[in-house]
Amino acid sequence: MVPESVGKYAFEVGMYRPPSEGGSFSLLLRFTRNCPWNKCTFCGMYKHEKFSLRSVEEIKWDIDSIAALINDMASLSRELGHDGRIDRDTIVAMIGKEPGLNTSHEFGMVLNWLSSGGKTVFLQDGNSLMMASDKLVDVLTYLRSTFPFLERCTTYARSKTLARKPQAELTAIRKAGLDRLHVGMETGDDALLKKIKKGVTGEEHIEGGKKAIEAGFQLSEYWMPGLGGREDWENHARNTAKVLNAINPHYIRSRPFSPWPGTPIHDAVEKGTLTLLSPLETLIELKLMIETLNVTSKVCFDHAGNSWVNRNGRLLFTQSYEGYKFPEEKVRVLDLIEAGIEHLEGQ
Ligand code: SF4
Repeated sequence: MVPESVGKYAFEVGMYRPPSEGGSFSLLLRFTRNCPWNKCTFCGMYKHEKFSLRSVEEIKWDIDSIAALINDMASLSRELGHDGRIDRDTIVAMIGKEPGLNTSHEFGMVLNWLSSGGKTVFLQDGNSLMMASDKLVDVLTYLRSTFPFLERCTTYARSKTLARKPQAELTAIRKAGLDRLHVGMETGDDALLKKIKKGVTGEEHIEGGKKAIEAGFQLSEYWMPGLGGREDWENHARNTAKVLNAINPHYIRSRPFSPWPGTPIHDAVEKGTLTLLSPLETLIELKLMIETLNVTSKVCFDHAGNSWVNRNGRLLFTQSYEGYKFPEEKVRVLDLIEAGIEHLEGQ
């Protein structure tokens, strides 16, 4: 929540967004609060928070607040003789008028968004598709008409919710201006999905993913190298590739597993029922997954956890949000993995 002192410019922002939305300085708009599922054993993001829907009025209020902030800064700029440009002098003058903005994290976020072109928006929190479809269409339409210069609007979604939504509703949401969905698939292995309490099967991942693509969304699927530990690594690698092959999403993003203190999976590691993979073992798992992959997706390593290095101490993979285009660059990725394995075996 923003402090009261920013008055009519107050709007609500949540905590999390995918790495690619940070890199493009997306505007963060909170459509729902926290996660409606909140049971995954590895996830601590919303652990102590309760899920709630926000009303259409609340979300439109936030959009209006941001629009007012931008319009008022542009007017101030013109008064200063700066042609409506939101430059340093304008920002200083704006803070002079509304001192609470000086310490507002949200104000900084809007300025970063504008300075990077104001092109992209990310809708928070964990699963915006929990909103009734007609309400989601309503606020998306309002968002697009308020900021007609937007080029991309994305959000998190669960496969289960996608699988349950009627196809026509997904298509309507897509047409109203939601472009890309980030789905936490984690693994395609049914036994591991059950163990981590993902609340979804490999088949449901496939169904949800296919429906999203059919509706016209760009689909970004996240998987977690190392999630199964030594106990399940092989099934994890093979079945993740199998499910991804069936979906063929636009993006496959690797977010390596690291136990989050306070989560059940962290306790499992402490008790010794889950044995963490070493960096070398994780690369061997990654090799098997990539070898089994038969897709036309972009395979990305844009999360900071993809920290393997080569013998020169440089990152093994680019952390570009566009990653490596498959199948064209599959051999290249396998060569990079091999170089990483050789480096770690030689240590
Ligand atoms: S669905 Fe996503 S946000 Fe919710 S508990 Fe699982 S990983 Fe966390």
